[in-house]
Amino acid sequence: MVIDVQLALRSPNSYQLVRAALETMEANHVWPTVRNFDLWVHYVAEKESPLAHEIDRLLAAGEAITETIGGELAAQYLPETRRGGHILEAGDMLSKELKTVTSAIENAQRSNEEYGQELATASERLEGQHTGPVAAVVQNLTAATRKAQTDTALLENQLAETTAELGRLRDNLEQVRKDAMTDGLTTLANRKAFDEILDTTCEHADAVGEGMTLAIIDIDHFKGFNDAWGHQIGDQVLRYVASVIGRMGSKPRLAARYGGEEFAIIFPAENGQAAKAVLEEIRLEVSSRSLKRRSTNEDLGMITVSAGFAERLAGESSSSLVERADTALYAAKHAGRNRTIAAAPMAAIAAA
Ligand code: GH3
Ligand code: MG
Ligand code: MG
Repeated sequence: MVIDVQLALRSPNSYQLVRAALETMEANHVWPTVRNFDLWVHYVAEKESPLAHEIDRLLAAGEAITETIGGELAAQYLPETRRGGHILEAGDMLSKELKTVTSAIENAQRSNEEYGQELATASERLEGQHTGPVAAVVQNLTAATRKAQTDTALLENQLAETTAELGRLRDNLEQVRKDAMTDGLTTLANRKAFDEILDTTCEHADAVGEGMTLAIIDIDHFKGFNDAWGHQIGDQVLRYVASVIGRMGSKPRLAARYGGEEFAIIFPAENGQAAKAVLEEIRLEVSSRSLKRRSTNEDLGMITVSAGFAERLAGESSSSLVERADTALYAAKHAGRNRTIAAAPMAAIAAA
């Protein structure tokens, strides 16, 4: 049986589970990727499962759990639906919970400190003020007060340690989450993040009854550029185009690396006209200068991009929206590249 990680992460012992998973990963030099985290949470949660036995066997044989092996393990032992997205959501939720717990502990620490100070003042006042039969009682009280003070200090230390540990745990989770959503080369959102955000933006648009626009941008003749200058310089150009896409326009939008040399922009609550203005800004900026090879100052020529965009129709699925933006992009390529083209209006599609 495969455990439900989401349920397990919602249970009271979720912190131990996540901490154990991260510690085991660290001890075995496993990278903190989402999939590995998913695998290792399963591993620590169910030590007698076939997955745990297989991991134990690999570790005993001195095998490193590489990305490839991790992928194979996930494919074999984790059900499709549990891979990827769910763990992100669970990590997100846990991260929020950890924030609450941490601040609760910090509050407890503060009031403990105050309590300790009150005890210290009280014990000073008790000492030396009494003689005779009262003295014994006072002595006992003072000793008890001192002990309470020591206990408080111990508790404080423990709380401080736990707080620090929770903080580290939260940072780890945050990192895992961020890595899973980011494209390594360009630092824009990756395809997975794009797919998720496109779906939620579409749902939101329907919920509030507003429009939105989707654009896909593709670098022109990029294969030829790579062939001429090599993949590494090609990668630099991808970063450059990504940086232009990331900084143009001012409203909150989602820019993502959609594929190899393709980018996508989601314009929530914006119509095609507004999107087109931003796309044209990007297109003109990219083609505005001749690129130079940094090391030698050699002239690499000009890069251009083509863009297609589609205004979403009420209730339209995200896949239909992507398809229309993609068709517009192809139209831009066919029309000679280095241009921005709008998807055909729905009336034309319906009539076809
Ligand atoms: P078009 O104007 O029709 O888009 O032509 P194109 O050559 O750009 O399109 P095509 O789809 O034929 O080739 C895309 C090229 O993009 C192929 C590959 O060399 C390059 N590419 C894809 N991903 C990467 C990457 O991560 N780095 C680099 N350097 N190049 C990439
Ligand atoms: Mg392409
Ligand atoms: Mg291209």
